[in-house]
Amino acid sequence: MSILLGCIADDFTGATDLAGLLRRSGVSVRLHLGVPDIGPDDYDAAPFEIIALKCRTTPAQEAVDEVLAAWRWLSANGARRAYWKYCSTFDSTADGNIGPVADALMNAMSTESAATHERADITVHCPSFPENGRRVFMGNLFVFDQPLHESPMKDHPLTPMRDSDLARLLRAQTPHPVGKLTTPDIVKEREDVRARIDELADDGVRHIIGDATEDMHLVSIARATEHLRLLCGGSAFASHLPALFRVRGFLSSDDQVALAAAPEGDALVISGSCSAMSQRQVAAWPAPSLALDPMELARDDDLAATRARFTEARERASAEGQPLLVYTTANPESVRQAQQEIDDAGALVERALATLAAEAVAQGVRRVVVAGGETSGAVSKALGVVQLDVGHEIVPGVPWCRAETAIVPGEPIAITLKSGNFGGEHFFAEALDNINPPVDEDA
Ligand code: ADP
Repeated sequence: MSILLGCIADDFTGATDLAGLLRRSGVSVRLHLGVPDIGPDDYDAAPFEIIALKCRTTPAQEAVDEVLAAWRWLSANGARRAYWKYCSTFDSTADGNIGPVADALMNAMSTESAATHERADITVHCPSFPENGRRVFMGNLFVFDQPLHESPMKDHPLTPMRDSDLARLLRAQTPHPVGKLTTPDIVKEREDVRARIDELADDGVRHIIGDATEDMHLVSIARATEHLRLLCGGSAFASHLPALFRVRGFLSSDDQVALAAAPEGDALVISGSCSAMSQRQVAAWPAPSLALDPMELARDDDLAATRARFTEARERASAEGQPLLVYTTANPESVRQAQQEIDDAGALVERALATLAAEAVAQGVRRVVVAGGETSGAVSKALGVVQLDVGHEIVPGVPWCRAETAIVPGEPIAITLKSGNFGGEHFFAEALDNINPPVDEDA
């Protein structure tokens, strides 16, 4: 099958968030960690393909090069339309990368042959995610009732957001004119919204910031932009596209793909996230656990002692028929102390957790829950996971996935990757209790 929507995400857990929302459509969604190295002749594409990159804060040219490589792969597999997925709080540095990447994608598309009704000279940005309190009104982004620049995002360590006016933010990231589709524009009929977009494009505008305070506004913009080859924004905007593909006849009921049951085997929960929610999740865990201390890891050069402790804990849990939680999750004071005493404590911890994950899969673990964005990246890499078939959501934005590993080829594992703040206090147990897809009572 040809790809209906080729998605490129600027970070890992943002990609799983998008994957979970697109999978609600019942159609197959595949997620790649990095640009796949398989050619189109050997690959049977899914209607929705997502390539997760790590390019939110890299230098703009690096981000552009990576995204273009991702688009070349998607396009070679038949994608005509692209979705550039970034965070619903428009996380970006002062001079990139949202604008430069969108410009580069439009440039690349304008050199490809196009049907007469398609446009690659303008795009619409909709970061709004009303279900999560992110709303855009008159071009300004709000986080619940606070303007972006007054929300906690103003103090983000890598992408502090100090302005709520998205058009002004974007103007610093692109040489091209930026326009707005405000709320009075988008509540009009589909033809009128579309006419307004085309009018802005004819005036030379290349980026439009779309207002949306409710999902129905995202639907309105999605319906008016079916002729645009590039759309940009958060996962909520993209989640309304499958229904439109269905209306247009690009998807039929034959495209509904049943979710596979989880492979049998032991379960392991790995938490390297130190977010407030992960701390609560670790504290609420009801089964056996093993805490790892970064100072001890630093002394255990080849991890021999740590691996022995881990294997013992795992075997004990397995004999009891219980999953094991292994974690380095700690409060901010302990993290600070570890950072002061150890060179690159984060990398040390990630390496240790990733090594144990690989060991566990070699020993028979087939169900893996990972907490932490960076931790997820390190664990996936150690397992040799590059492609995930996306399954049902555990909580909004966190789906179970099925993946092949390089450790036990031919024996897929179930894996879920969650960023620190996602999920409630009992997320880990909830994930394992709901590992199999819900039974469809209408079926
Ligand atoms: P989140 O999604 O919550 O940001 P991440 O996995 O992305 O979680 O980031 C957490 C970072 O903190 C990782 O680099 C991890 O290795 C590091 N880390 C985890 N536990 C500790 C600890 N006890 N001391 C110091 N650093 C830690």
